[in-house]
Amino acid sequence: MPRSGSEPKLRGHMEKVVIIGAGCAGWTAALYTARANLKPLVLTGKHPGGLLATTTVVENYPGFPEGVDGFELMKRMQKQAERFGARAKFATVEIADLSSEPFLLTADGETIQCETLIIASGAGHKHLGLPSEHLLENKGVTYCATCDGALPHFRNQPLVVVGGGDSACEEAMYLTRFGSVVYLVHRRDTLRASKIMAERALAHAKIKPIWDSAVTEILDVKQDKVTGVRVKNLKTEAEQIIPCGGVFVAIGHVPNTQIFRGMIDMDEIGYIIPRRGTATNVPGVFVAGDCADRVYRQAVTAAGLGCAAAIDAERYLAARNE
Ligand code: NAP
Repeated sequence: MPRSGSEPKLRGHMEKVVIIGAGCAGWTAALYTARANLKPLVLTGKHPGGLLATTTVVENYPGFPEGVDGFELMKRMQKQAERFGARAKFATVEIADLSSEPFLLTADGETIQCETLIIASGAGHKHLGLPSEHLLENKGVTYCATCDGALPHFRNQPLVVVGGGDSACEEAMYLTRFGSVVYLVHRRDTLRASKIMAERALAHAKIKPIWDSAVTEILDVKQDKVTGVRVKNLKTEAEQIIPCGGVFVAIGHVPNTQIFRGMIDMDEIGYIIPRRGTATNVPGVFVAGDCADRVYRQAVTAAGLGCAAAIDAERYLAARNE
């Protein structure tokens, strides 16, 4: 039923469940809603598999004692959901109209209408916010070591990783395969990363931590390529230039929720705030995974929330049709 004051909506094919995002949360929601015979449509966005697909070995997903390649894990999740009737569409949602039912989504120019929506759009890489970072992006500045680390211009070069979390440690470890040395520049004097990751990174002969320091400029915009970083010690204010051939920024993530701003309740950063379980402030719209989780942000918690969102959506549809 349209809510009061709303425009009449499209007629024609109506999806019961649309899932935005094809990461751990999205594919788990797809698996559960597919098994409930709801034939979910998964809109993958530009990065099917989400951030996990860019990870090397995932060692903390239960059931894989030897670890599992992140891309492989995501491929398996997709295959499992598709086996029960989930459908994937490689498309990015540009506009969402959640003002009345059915919900309307515009993805790559096509309009899709749905009875329920599960937002599992994940998170993207946070940037340092330096003008030189922006100007040298893809010219030596990158946000994904597993995607770009093996490129020829990074080989046998000193490399810089910025950050102190699990991502930074993982990126630094991965880059030891290619770089001559990997500087880990962190703004404090202890890593935020889990103990096992931190110890592994700090024990590696090729990884050199630069503590209490911030990258203030990436050089050299004039040459249109990365030749080094200007680093400031935040305790002593001393500056130094570290020559390097690449900068890998791994300072966390920002939720991919911009298109829902003003419609769905979210905090100041953009993390969606669920009301009850996975339900949002809009009845029929549910949320799962990193776009609503600023605390845990693990593959297994995202999968768990995807399952919860699917069950909530299924119950919502069942209650409406009673
Ligand atoms: P994170 O845990 O939020 O760490 C971000 C790091 O970047 C922190 O060390 C932070 O410094 C630093 N930072 C943030 N903003 C900065 C800025 N503007 N300038 C300089 N440094 C900045 O993010 P993450 O490492 O991406 O991890 C996200 C989640 O994914 C975590 O829950 C993590 O456990 C998980 N993860 C797990 C694995 C794994 O287990 N294999 C791998 C990757 C990620 P402070 O420490 O000072 O705040």
